Amino acid sequence: MTETSPPHRVVVVGASMVAHRFVESLLARADTATTVTVIGEEPHRPYDRVALTSFLSGATPDDLTLDRSVFDDHRVDLLAGDPVIRIDRGAATVLTASRATVPYDTLVLATGSSAARPAVEGADLPGCFVYRTIDDLSSLREYVAERERQLGRPLTGKVIGGGLLGLEAVGALQELGVDGAVVHSGTHLMSAQLDRAGGDVLGRLIERRDITVRTSTRTTRIDADRTGRVAGLEFHDGSREPTDVVVFTVGVRPNDALAREAQLACESDGGVRIDDTCRTSDERILAIGEVAAFDGRCVGLVAPGYAMAEVAADRLFGGSATFPGYDDSAKLKLSGVDVASFGDALATAPDALDVVYTDPVGGVYKKLVLSDDASTLLGGIFVGDAASYGALRPLVGRPLGADPAAYLLPSGGMEAPAGELPDEAIVCSCSSVTAGRIRSAVHEDGCADAGEVKACTKAGATCGSCFAMVKKITAQELTALGKSVSSALCEHFDLSRRQLYDAIVVSRETTFSGILERFGRGRGCDVCKPTIASILHGLVGEHVLDGESAALQDTNDHVMANMQKDGSYSVVPRMPGGEVTPDGLVVIGEVARDFGLYTKLTGGQRIDMFGARLEQLPDIWRRLVEAGFESGQAYGKSLRTVKSCVGSTWCRYGVLDAVGMAVRLELRYRGLRSPHKLKLGVSGCARECAEARSKDAGVIATENGWNLYVGGNGGFTPRHAQLLAEGLDDDALIRTIDRYFMYYIRTADRLQRTAPWLADLDGGLDGLREVIIDDSLGIAGDLDDAMARHVDAYEDEWAATLKDPDKLTRFHSFVNAPTTPDPSLAYVAERGQVRPASDEERQSGSVMIAGTTLEVRQ
Ligand SMILES: Cc1cc2nc3c(=O)[nH]c(=O)nc-3n(C[C@H](O)[C@H](O)[C@H](O)COP(=O)(O)OP(=O)(O)OC[C@H]3O[C@@H](n4cnc5c(N)ncnc54)[C@H](O)[C@@H]3O)c2cc1C
Ligand code: SF4
Repeated sequence: MTETSPPHRVVVVGASMVAHRFVESLLARADTATTVTVIGEEPHRPYDRVALTSFLSGATPDDLTLDRSVFDDHRVDLLAGDPVIRIDRGAATVLTASRATVPYDTLVLATGSSAARPAVEGADLPGCFVYRTIDDLSSLREYVAERERQLGRPLTGKVIGGGLLGLEAVGALQELGVDGAVVHSGTHLMSAQLDRAGGDVLGRLIERRDITVRTSTRTTRIDADRTGRVAGLEFHDGSREPTDVVVFTVGVRPNDALAREAQLACESDGGVRIDDTCRTSDERILAIGEVAAFDGRCVGLVAPGYAMAEVAADRLFGGSATFPGYDDSAKLKLSGVDVASFGDALATAPDALDVVYTDPVGGVYKKLVLSDDASTLLGGIFVGDAASYGALRPLVGRPLGADPAAYLLPSGGMEAPAGELPDEAIVCSCSSVTAGRIRSAVHEDGCADAGEVKACTKAGATCGSCFAMVKKITAQELTALGKSVSSALCEHFDLSRRQLYDAIVVSRETTFSGILERFGRGRGCDVCKPTIASILHGLVGEHVLDGESAALQDTNDHVMANMQKDGSYSVVPRMPGGEVTPDGLVVIGEVARDFGLYTKLTGGQRIDMFGARLEQLPDIWRRLVEAGFESGQAYGKSLRTVKSCVGSTWCRYGVLDAVGMAVRLELRYRGLRSPHKLKLGVSGCARECAEARSKDAGVIATENGWNLYVGGNGGFTPRHAQLLAEGLDDDALIRTIDRYFMYYIRTADRLQRTAPWLADLDGGLDGLREVIIDDSLGIAGDLDDAMARHVDAYEDEWAATLKDPDKLTRFHSFVNAPTTPDPSLAYVAERGQVRPASDEERQSGSVMIAGTTLEVRQ
């Protein structure tokens, strides 16, 4: 094609993730004589369907929209909300529902799939949903809210289908406040990706999250109530269960109707047949993504679709790329549980060997599938802990290079073998980026860090599971080039957090301005200010609102409360070990009632009160402090809670006093500022009711004393803590935790939780043991002294603030009118409490309680 030839007209049917990738890739290759028209059925710009569930936790369609610049290009036209209804291959045109006829030189089908509903009576009743599009989730959310209002109670919900989408959907139902259950016809969850043992461990982990799992159960009918809305399910064994809402996740069907009508070759099971160049039986028509059937099948993952998009774009411009076949690998977080499966996960190869590690108490199942001579990695399954996935998936079909146990055992902590990866190994399966491409991004494209490599190659840009490996390879290549790998804290400090900590200790500087002048430049930023405030707090013991320190804090520290989405604050008093007296409960109840606060129990066993206005915080705290409560520091990068079970004092299985120890630990570490939040858990026996192994420090009682686990966390990337020491008495336990926390505080990066810190530490868990138990560096005494200083210097931040008129001046909504509350806060009543009003409620005037008029009884 040249500038003078007529433009090559590419028409894409379907405006989703794969179409977006195709257009992006085409633009990167195309000259100006190409035009692209993308025609989509959904009334949105292409959006991230993989992240769809975040829509239910507050993401807007805008947040989900994929890179808009692709459609801002003058060569690209997007017709959204106007489905194609016919392809006329003779005339080389497509016809849309609005009767527009669009001619093409090349047609690309990217129509994806639609969610299926089972063929059972009642599947179309109001209250039955599928889970595929923004509009599906929006209808589900509205229905749940409306039905809850009608019934005046929380709803129950059933997800039919226990595959990966079903588990995601039931987690989402839970987020909506619906008591969810999964009903699955197979013998175990995710039967397409996991073996029975892995599926069973997953089932137990899901049940621990208060989600009921019912396997080997077929739904035969869905019943309605008198209003015609869904009310119950009937199963194949004749049993029934009530339900208020049903979500079907029983599979998808390729949207191939257009292609069939146009007489393109299709598979009998569905899907438009393509060859390895993504061509259909008509050479002017390509198919990519979930609608395309290669080797007789379609696959419901985005990575193969992206690979097809790249091949199709390359071929249009005379390239020779071919689709290599499906890589079904997937790493997902389902209802909070890490699950990964890759390669020949179900060990179908003849004489394949399994190496399995399972920890039923901790809820971990890991399996590697090896060739019959145990030399070559064929695939694997991870449930509960998928940390090794990124390191192992690129090794499929290659020698493992280490004892399989090194990758599986919790204490193995095998590092990603980036250096051994051959150039052709696929590191990012979502975007088909090889180790060689990452290396060339550093050597040939001049990328100077992993972020630049990501932008340049798209490695790690989709699901992100390979980004640790991308960073590692990038760092290796930069080092090989003699370039330094930056560990600078931010643009104002070239030192890492650890170096800065040492510099502050040695220089004895005690102010931010002094530190900036001596070791940094400029005026500081949101990264270095709170980092230095946290270091100084530990070293100098200054109040967070003292002098210069007050200006350095994060938003929440700034007012010693957690800001909520409507701009109000939450208040969390400390309850060591989750204990609270009846009198204490009465005070909390009275405070919540008098200030109109919404109350809720937290996962860390304390009570959170929401909806406080800035100017109310001192009055609320005055009453709490008078009743003997302290700040729970739910706002700080510091100790949060020590969760505990009831232990030997009440429980017949308990072997040690878990509550007593939890209280002791919480009182010792309260107020301890650290690079990230710190959580502890104490269980009275191996049944682990306090879930201590999901904490930074987990303590479990045994007949021989306390076992200490370190480096666990929940959150976005859950990790199980690893066993550091066993059979400790009370003093040895506390000494070991003292040193572990202090060593972490001194050496971790900013916002690095204990798990990644431990993974980066020289020698890992063994290295930590050597430093804090064997005292290999001779610093154990310093660490003990530092903790002793912290314990001595502890002072409740809120009690101190109430005594200081200067500090109290910052708790005003409006600087010029200290007693005027913020009028933007508005609430409605729900289930006997208040919640923030939605935009529609504000506009409709149905707001019942507004911030300006809320009566405060004192
Ligand atoms: C909640 C959820 C979570 C997921 N999580 C993951 C994950 O973690 N990892 C993963 O790999 N995959 C995941 N997937 C699957 C992934 O989203 C799909 O594989 C991917 O979106 C496929 O993209 P596609 O472009 O081929 O098809 P689709 O996303 O189905 O898009 C096709 C588009 O074409 C439109 N269309 C259909 N017919 C017409 C027509 N006649 N005219 C115009 N437009 C038409 C459709 O309305 C749709 O917008 C998830 C899916 C869901 C629903
Ligand atoms: S962990 Fe053990 S001691 Fe604690 S409540 Fe559970 S069973 Fe009882």
